[in-house]
Amino acid sequence: MKSALFLLLHLGSLCRLPVALYDPPVPPVVPTVRLSIAIAETPEGPVQTPAWVYSQVVEAQRVYNAFGIYFTHAETRPLDSSFAQLETRKDRDNLAGLLKKGVLNVFIVESLRDVDDPRLYRGGVHWAPNGDLTRQYVIVAAGAGSTTLAHEIGHYFKLQHTFVTDNLMSYDRTGGVVFLNSKQKATVVTSARAYTRSKELLPE
Ligand SMILES: [Zn+2]
Repeated sequence: MKSALFLLLHLGSLCRLPVALYDPPVPPVVPTVRLSIAIAETPEGPVQTPAWVYSQVVEAQRVYNAFGIYFTHAETRPLDSSFAQLETRKDRDNLAGLLKKGVLNVFIVESLRDVDDPRLYRGGVHWAPNGDLTRQYVIVAAGAGSTTLAHEIGHYFKLQHTFVTDNLMSYDRTGGVVFLNSKQKATVVTSARAYTRSKELLPE
């Protein structure tokens, strides 16, 4: 109970991040995007720490706040241990039963096996059961790199992969600061406005 309370308090500070990251802040182009973050439980406890989740969200804020897309946590919730290790498409699909309305649903799991090449594990994935984009969400593995949540959010906003080094949507990275180009930013803004109009994303 104590750790859950700490988690909530810790993530609560994310609300204030936009002000700290850019001064002056970039005016928002859509209502703040609410993240529902579900963290898988294991017998040893949650698969990741509040600090790690915080760092993933900070990186998303850094990339997207620069052009007026802001995130806040709507809630943090535990994810049943049966979802900790996602092995198959069906495992990923089953998360759709836990989706919350009006928010961007994020699931943090212990491991995420590649469903095309089962020898591999993924850091993250943007997923929609049977391609049904009315039920889309992102999954991030506990061992993922610092920009994985930001990358998967890019897919949520309809960005495709690129081959430009250090672009957020590229696998070709030097470890330097990642970025989006102006065309990608326009795509994100268009998608965010569409999700707001359709009420897929609801304001607080
Ligand atoms: Zn990707």
